[in-house]
Amino acid sequence: MSQKKKSTKSIHRQQKPPSVPAATGSYYTDSLGFMSMDSNVPGLSNVILEKLNMKSYEEYRSAVNGNNFTTNFGIRTYYDMFQKMEDTYKFCAQCKKLPSLLLDPRSMRRCKRCQNVYYCGSECQRENWSSHKKFCRKLKLAAIDRLVEWLVFTGDIPFPTKPWIKPCSEVKNWEDWFSMQEGLEEKLDSLMTCRYMGILWSNAGKPRPEDIELRESIKRLTTDFFTRPMTIGFAINAFNVDPYAKPMTVHVIGASHTETLNIRVTDYDELAKMFPGNQGIEVVMVGPEVVNGPVMRPPLVAYGPRGRVYVSGYKGLYHVFWETLIESQQAARPDLVVGFHPGFHASQGLAEGWLPTLLLLRDFNIPSVFTMYSEHEMKYSLQILAELETQVFSFGPFPFASLKPEQVQTDPNKTPVSSNAFHLLFRGTIGADSETDMAGLEETDSG
Ligand SMILES: [Zn+2]
Ligand SMILES: [Zn+2]
Repeated sequence: MSQKKKSTKSIHRQQKPPSVPAATGSYYTDSLGFMSMDSNVPGLSNVILEKLNMKSYEEYRSAVNGNNFTTNFGIRTYYDMFQKMEDTYKFCAQCKKLPSLLLDPRSMRRCKRCQNVYYCGSECQRENWSSHKKFCRKLKLAAIDRLVEWLVFTGDIPFPTKPWIKPCSEVKNWEDWFSMQEGLEEKLDSLMTCRYMGILWSNAGKPRPEDIELRESIKRLTTDFFTRPMTIGFAINAFNVDPYAKPMTVHVIGASHTETLNIRVTDYDELAKMFPGNQGIEVVMVGPEVVNGPVMRPPLVAYGPRGRVYVSGYKGLYHVFWETLIESQQAARPDLVVGFHPGFHASQGLAEGWLPTLLLLRDFNIPSVFTMYSEHEMKYSLQILAELETQVFSFGPFPFASLKPEQVQTDPNKTPVSSNAFHLLFRGTIGADSETDMAGLEETDSG
């Protein structure tokens, strides 16, 4: 029964690291996601490419990588920009028809309550109501958030924060975190009246929501912005890593454009506020889909600046990063590894991308935290970690999940998810001794 553990060392020997670590197409998890939209709404991926004035997924990819971002996708006005964004949601929620398939493409109608989902006509809308009514309220929030999110790109959200006045142990959820923010109402007020909020609603092509709705949206987007540094801070505490004792290094693995497109070097500063007086925290974004940008600077060889957060990046697979930079001591070993939505459940073959990384984390006994969008994903990840005989410390709903609903773009009448909704912490191998047999493991587990 006892299965011989796969050793990371053998992987190291079998695969000579390439001189220029290159990402190959097969690791692009989101290219699968992108094309799979078409199975729900035929042609949707083309609509998105067309709206962005692009001819292929490769071109989209290349733009996302920062290669020709300056072309601005041919968008000339704010109104244009918001319309094009909205167009990617325009298809009949019932029969899935795109506007181009209608006699009059302008005859698409939108649900007045949520301002989110579209119909080719009243018949489809009537038929769809029995399933849509379950989601209409939540989709209303999603429709507001996808517009207000623009203020994150303009730099207005999040509002500036101060060093924490409470110890981490007393900040258990977002309510605690917001209650710690001095002058919160004034900060929200100034966002409500800021320049870009005005531009947004005079160009959105939708009625401006009530003030109270807008304030809630700003707060949801604030949690969406901070959920990542909070995940790291949460895990630092959970694993008892001490950022006051020595400088620490955090690796964000499998980082994709979700984490790195539009990222600023200050995006993880909340960590420094969480641990005022820390010895320096470096966050290294590692993954084949890391987008070229300000954080694409090499990881630190010496210690980072005391009391601050330093973000760096490496484009490539994690085990390649480990072999080329960590083993040659050009980058520090991590005190903590974080995977935001690694999405094992969607990988075609785990071996392709994640297996070497998981084995490496296990064999080097690295404190690790992974997050998931759903309980289903969490259970699946737990199963994989169990098969790899990894020691799982805790798992469950994550108290600092983003409060912004993520609608399933191709099928709005599915339950929206949220970023970092679930988490699991793991480290090393089940049972400290590799000689332990299964019976011994069971005893240890139940203890
Ligand atoms: Zn229809
Ligand atoms: Zn609705």
